[in-house]
Amino acid sequence: VAMLGALSGGGISLAAFLYRYGSRSFSEKIRQAIEGGRLTLVYQPLVRIHDRQMVGVEALARLTDEYGEDIAPDVFIKVAEEGGFIDRVARIVIRTALKEMRSRLKATAGFHCGINLSTGDILDETLCDFLDREVKSHGLEPSQVVLEVTERATADPEQLIGSMEKFRQRGYAFYLDDFGTGYSNLAYLAHLPISGIKLDRMFTQAIGKEAMGSTIAENVCAVAKALNLQLIVEGIETEEQAQYIDRLSPAAIGQGWLYGRPVPAEKLRK
Ligand code: C2E
Ligand code: CA
Ligand code: CA
Ligand code: CA
Repeated sequence: VAMLGALSGGGISLAAFLYRYGSRSFSEKIRQAIEGGRLTLVYQPLVRIHDRQMVGVEALARLTDEYGEDIAPDVFIKVAEEGGFIDRVARIVIRTALKEMRSRLKATAGFHCGINLSTGDILDETLCDFLDREVKSHGLEPSQVVLEVTERATADPEQLIGSMEKFRQRGYAFYLDDFGTGYSNLAYLAHLPISGIKLDRMFTQAIGKEAMGSTIAENVCAVAKALNLQLIVEGIETEEQAQYIDRLSPAAIGQGWLYGRPVPAEKLRK
């Protein structure tokens, strides 16, 4: 009745009403799925291109609704960010990833687990302590966790860099995710406390097809080298793409269907 009253009062259009209340219940549905234990993780191998050695994994979140239907990660992550409960996602992901990857992280020297963080997570004052507690409780080292952060700077750069420094001081490394799709310039890049850049798959997929794609890949390889950053190339699907990157940057790490799709922990190859 109150809703109808709001409608007839003329304060809100029907479209706005549906948008607001429709999206609120969608957001509520996603929150419930997360709290109800329907957030799981899959892992995708990170492979040294030159010798195909698996050097780590990236944890990727999956969510299903009450009917078992998948909700796309790009969708529920955005909804969680906008709904103010991305902190719950981050904590569940950290806890689950460390638990599921513990034995692998312990068994293989230098092996690391990548975890995606939203800007809000990095600015979250309490997340670093949470992460520290989880890492210690599993007998792991901070250096075994790499935090992936995108360059879509929705936050004040100074503030973001300050928060990243805090994680860094405790031994966590950052990779700049989806590199090339944002707008960070070289001066900004040089100031970010990161140890690697992940070339977005958009550019990888243009290798051998569009002159532009190859040019960008070449330039990003050069930038990584000049700034002494680890290069990770996303979305490698073909042998041709892998060989192209290997010629440009023999130390590059690759990720993509050529090496393995994201799979549950127990299906990850040895
Ligand atoms: P991302 O971090 O860039 O993750 C890489 C995406 O590329 C993944 O999509 C992965 O499945 C896909 N991919 C990997 N290799 C290939 C390939 O060879 N070809 C193609 N076509 N695609 C490939 P996914 O799992 O759908 O994740 C989408 C995005 O959702 C991620 O992009 C990340 O930004 C976000 N996300 C996932 N998990 C989390 C999380 O735990 N926290 C936060 N904040 N964001 C997350
Ligand atoms: Ca990522
Ligand atoms: Ca990415
Ligand atoms: Ca992405």
